[in-house]
Amino acid sequence: MKRLTALILAAATAFSMTACGSSASSSTAASAADETPASQTSTALSDESADIVIIGGGAAGITAALKAAEADVDIILLEKQGVLGGASAMASSGINAGGSSLQMETETPYTADEFYEYALSWDYGYDRIGYRVVPVREDYAYTFAYNSGDSADYIASLGLDLAASSGSHSIQLADKSQGGFGSLYITALLAELEKYENIDVRTSSPASEILVDENGAVSGVVVDSKDGQYTINTNAVLIASGGYASADSSFFQTYAPEWDGYYSYGAAGATGDGIVMADALGAQLLGMDAITCTTATVGEPNQAGALSVANALKAGSLLVNQNGQRFVNESSGTADMMEAIKAQPDACAYLIVDSATLEQSEELQKVQQAGKLVEAADAAALADALGLDPDALADTLAQLTEGISAGADAFGNETFISDFAQGPYYGVLVKPARRITTGGIVTDGKAQVLDENNNPITGLYAAGEVTAYGAHPLSAATIFGRQAADSMVAFLGK
Ligand SMILES: Cc1cc2nc3c(=O)[nH]c(=O)nc-3n(C[C@H](O)[C@H](O)[C@H](O)COP(=O)(O)OP(=O)(O)OC[C@H]3O[C@@H](n4cnc5c(N)ncnc54)[C@H](O)[C@@H]3O)c2cc1C
Repeated sequence: MKRLTALILAAATAFSMTACGSSASSSTAASAADETPASQTSTALSDESADIVIIGGGAAGITAALKAAEADVDIILLEKQGVLGGASAMASSGINAGGSSLQMETETPYTADEFYEYALSWDYGYDRIGYRVVPVREDYAYTFAYNSGDSADYIASLGLDLAASSGSHSIQLADKSQGGFGSLYITALLAELEKYENIDVRTSSPASEILVDENGAVSGVVVDSKDGQYTINTNAVLIASGGYASADSSFFQTYAPEWDGYYSYGAAGATGDGIVMADALGAQLLGMDAITCTTATVGEPNQAGALSVANALKAGSLLVNQNGQRFVNESSGTADMMEAIKAQPDACAYLIVDSATLEQSEELQKVQQAGKLVEAADAAALADALGLDPDALADTLAQLTEGISAGADAFGNETFISDFAQGPYYGVLVKPARRITTGGIVTDGKAQVLDENNNPITGLYAAGEVTAYGAHPLSAATIFGRQAADSMVAFLGK
């Protein structure tokens, strides 16, 4: 029987910050996380069985379940949070494709061939707008590009009001007043799930291990439910557990040490579980350091729920490092800004504004409401409160005032709306936050998980942010969720 629960999108966050190391109390993450079994009991429950087990209830997992359910198969969809949706429900802008009906109807159609060429060009590094990209296999790129039109048409068929940009791979909501892309998409998918009796959705049910037989073929999944542990015997498993933006320190020490300690602007459930489970079976991993950040946030190390102040930086905020010195044009683009902050002592910075700038920034007002913005009457008091050198900060502010008055800021920032000549001042420690991860499990064009020798692990599939998908996560989740469903149904001979 289905156990669908309502989608919860909001994240309730409380932080305490004092210095670059930052401190303690934090009640982060979607309230859904509260329903996740904290520590599992040792009770062993009876084994069950299913044709297909899907680990993760975001876009990849749900679209896979819906597609597979058209065949004569029994599906169990496991979701570790109390609700479905994952990072997919947080997606803001839209999807990407080539050759969809919407794109082919524009003045300058954008084709699947063009999308394929573009996907083949991905290499390690940042794209035009600061997203980290990784290369993908040719067969992966082929499935991605030539199935992207169908997937976009499928999403449109769910009732989302979409519009395609002419001559571009971008498809966005036509009317954003109804909500964010991801929340509308997931809400539509949840309605679809209700139509199928052969999809058994289990929330608060984290998968903890994928079992294989003596030949290395998938034979089951271990589930740590709140009532105890049980095994689902199955020959086909789809890992759709999302990325690792919110993984803990031990995960990052193992897979991408340089990213340990950053905040997370991603989903609370994006803890890399699928990577760990696949790694244990010898899956090939790629690009684990490919992480897209929200450049400046207020948060807690390795925890979801960071508050973004990235827009405030483009609207007249000052940024200094631990030495009280400026180091970058505060209005720089995403990739430059991230690298600039990462290069500072302890990879952090302090955002400083005056009253006039604070009044213009909703982001900073949220930080203030969360009790995280330090207020001080003058530069010396602010330096004291933030733990910065008072003389250095006073010098920095004086130079800023002088530069703005002379119409030539030393760092070329043209966004300042005041000259910072007078307190009170406000300040807060900021760091980049991990938001989307692009690296992960290597899969082929059929969504099969490959081992280090590029051989498929029998019965094991992966889709979405858990994979090394190149770019455009929500599209990848939908395209390969649906592809994995077809592959699993064919594998089972159904
Ligand atoms: C703020 C924000 C904005 C974004 N905007 C866009 C955008 O505009 N366009 C775009 O393309 N992408 C965007 N993305 C990225 C995109 O939303 C995701 O990468 C993509 O939707 C991931 O889909 P998924 O199904 O692979 O993973 P998810 O949607 O994260 O779903 C994975 C699910 O698996 C569950 N899970 C994890 N571990 C386990 C386990 N052990 N057992 C059971 N369940 C488990 C998780 O709780 C989660 O619900 C954005 C991301 C964020 C954070």
